[in-house]
Amino acid sequence: MDLLDTLTAKGLRGEVPTREEALAVLATTDDELLDVVAAAGKVRRRWFGRRVKLNYLVNLKSGLCPEDCSYCSQRLGSKAEILKYTWLKPEQAADAARAGVAGGAKRVCLVASGRGPTDRDIDRVTDTMAAIKDADPEVEICVCLGLLSDNQAERLKAAGADAYNHNLNTSESTYGDIATTHTYADRVDTVQKAHGAGLSACSGLIAGMGESDEDLVDVVFALRELGSDSVPVNFLIPFEGTPLAQEWNLTPQRCLRILAMVRFVNPDTEVRIAGGREVHLRSMQPLGLHVANSIFLGDYLTSEGQAGQTDLDMIKDAGFEVEGAGEATLPRHRADIAAASGCGSTASGCGTSAAAPTASGCGSAASACGSGGGCGPCGGHGHAEPAPAAAVASDAAESTDGLRSDLVKVRRRGAGTELAPNA
Ligand code: SF4
Repeated sequence: MDLLDTLTAKGLRGEVPTREEALAVLATTDDELLDVVAAAGKVRRRWFGRRVKLNYLVNLKSGLCPEDCSYCSQRLGSKAEILKYTWLKPEQAADAARAGVAGGAKRVCLVASGRGPTDRDIDRVTDTMAAIKDADPEVEICVCLGLLSDNQAERLKAAGADAYNHNLNTSESTYGDIATTHTYADRVDTVQKAHGAGLSACSGLIAGMGESDEDLVDVVFALRELGSDSVPVNFLIPFEGTPLAQEWNLTPQRCLRILAMVRFVNPDTEVRIAGGREVHLRSMQPLGLHVANSIFLGDYLTSEGQAGQTDLDMIKDAGFEVEGAGEATLPRHRADIAAASGCGSTASGCGTSAAAPTASGCGSAASACGSGGGCGPCGGHGHAEPAPAAAVASDAAESTDGLRSDLVKVRRRGAGTELAPNA
């Protein structure tokens, strides 16, 4: 049986491939690309049908962060011309959330820059969640505030949060190259705190920072072991004014291979195409929907996405449908695991009798997450020393000889402005 037959068979059973098989997906040729997408598509449809979950970002507090995550436009010393503002009022955040929900978003992601929340910040977010749920009790709320201290996850859960996002971003062995103000272990600890409090864990990665194939496989397996219920896959947006501004290492083909590898390792987990979708997948975005079952609607934290209506048109044109508020995202057996271990993911419709997943449940001994800081899909970036270009050379984008700021529009609309989101 060849590689793709093996991966498809395993994925349909909810089994995780070997590390060598995951690496082999990243090494496939362009001639094999459509076969890779088709194989991953079978696994995606087995567990998630043709549904696409829409998530909507609200940046509660933008910029001015003391952390030094090199990929982030909000980092300490960033020269990126992003909006900078302190905490939105609950009503402002609720207004922004309402726009996303009206556009079809099922989950609202409340994000704040910074190393981690104070107890007063938890109070602010509690008030914000109440304002959002007053308007729409059905909306899922994921909170992303950085590193959590003891009891903060429990407070968020009690206040109505459904999930907590904290990305691992890259492999444990290279984490020190992208941030120095916190560690990979710090990040693992926060994901475990969220799990332990009964919050569904959302934790993902950023590709395109100069990492090797081995690094990508390492972080994706770590996320599986950690029991992340949703895995956002960010593609680096090299903002001018950040240390990684020159890191244009991705092609649409490379992005599709990465998404497929993430899907095979996480067959029954929500895989989300996150920041950088438009910039790096470009005209191949609809193919990404055959692999991932979740995207962000409209804009990112500090950069513009394509218009929300364009996202909706793309989903429809590609033959997919927006997942409704009443539909469960995860297959039922994943929800069972979550319940047994105290995590709180949502149950599912599709994914029927699924074989028991081989890798980890929530809050298990999880290996490694680990970075510091907070936020997930910032869409910013930048690091002091650019990471080595290493193994992505063969996939290097066509124009690595100059910035492509034409494709990176700093966000100037939506939350924190007087302009409507997704205009
Ligand atoms: S990712 Fe979060 S913690 Fe890191 S610099 Fe950006 S805002 Fe700060």
